[in-house]
Amino acid sequence: MTSKQKLLSFFTTPTARLAATHLAIIMCMSIVFSVIFYNASTRPLERPTPSSGQFMPAFQDDRALFDSEVRRVIEERLDETRKALATRLVWINFGILIAGSAVSYMLARRSLTPIEEAMEAQSQFISDASHELRTPLTVLQTTNEVALRKSKLSIKDAKNIIAHNVTETKKLRDLSNMLLELLKNDAGAVSFTEVDIQEVVSESLNSIVAAAQAKNIVVEDSVKQLYVKTNKALLGQILGIFLDNAVKYSKPGGVILLSSKQEDEMIHLSVKDEGAGIHASDLPYIFQRFYRADKSRTTNETSGYGLGLAIADKISKKIHIKIEVSSKPAKGSTFTLIIPRAE
Ligand code: ADP
Repeated sequence: MTSKQKLLSFFTTPTARLAATHLAIIMCMSIVFSVIFYNASTRPLERPTPSSGQFMPAFQDDRALFDSEVRRVIEERLDETRKALATRLVWINFGILIAGSAVSYMLARRSLTPIEEAMEAQSQFISDASHELRTPLTVLQTTNEVALRKSKLSIKDAKNIIAHNVTETKKLRDLSNMLLELLKNDAGAVSFTEVDIQEVVSESLNSIVAAAQAKNIVVEDSVKQLYVKTNKALLGQILGIFLDNAVKYSKPGGVILLSSKQEDEMIHLSVKDEGAGIHASDLPYIFQRFYRADKSRTTNETSGYGLGLAIADKISKKIHIKIEVSSKPAKGSTFTLIIPRAE
């Protein structure tokens, strides 16, 4: 791209266009103000010059000559004053144009940067989501095409294929549910009530019992009866995500420990596992959408979409809960919820 093309393309950017609009407004105001100021300042100078006879009767004879000389000098000075004023105003406007361009550009950048970032994040999200949706769809398509090409298909094979299809369809449904959960614009107010964390924990545990038993994982629940001020359903949703991950990333026969403690005005509710753990270099990113610490795990049974913690993070901000994570690779992880205590 030549420098001329670069310059032309710069002037067509949204930032340049917005800056130009700001500048046009500033310059219009400045010019209008200058014209008003010029007129207001020169009007008193345009009053008729008094004749000498009014003040100096002694000069009666040479009055005409004297008056014309005085008028000429005054007119000259008035012209000079008008020109000097106009020149100053032109320079002031030129200064405003230069400073205004810089200020307008800065303001335009400041207003557009968050919009550009949001658009960038949205297109990244769409591209990641499409990528994730494509995988199960491709698997479904390939399995069905291979089955169709076979001249004969036993009932057993057909059932296997259907079972496989059901699994992939379930993955697609889970993924679309998670995507909807993340995109949901639930800006409305949430209700906060007094909630017994023991109750939330036992309800959340019900949903992972089967998965934990299938991996021979022991779940130890030492959560005390403590009351927090929160939204019960949303707290349960976050806890469900932590428990689901604890089971997913635990080795068979591992232990998951749930505990609670009170610290000042806050209640700490922790889910500790002895599973795969997370590298320190991955920890800052695990709450980002589609982030998976161990990409190789996407192909085995612990595969996920990297959306669970992003959802937990979104919900936690909505109900003013802080999440803390400590983890050591191969030793395990602890996810702690810090929730405001009920009065
Ligand atoms: P996923 O569906 O992949 O589990 P999450 O958003 O729930 O997505 O988690 C993001 C990543 O954080 C996971 O891919 C995993 O690498 C890591 N992670 C989350 N919880 C745990 C855990 N309890 N133990 C080990 N790694 C975990």
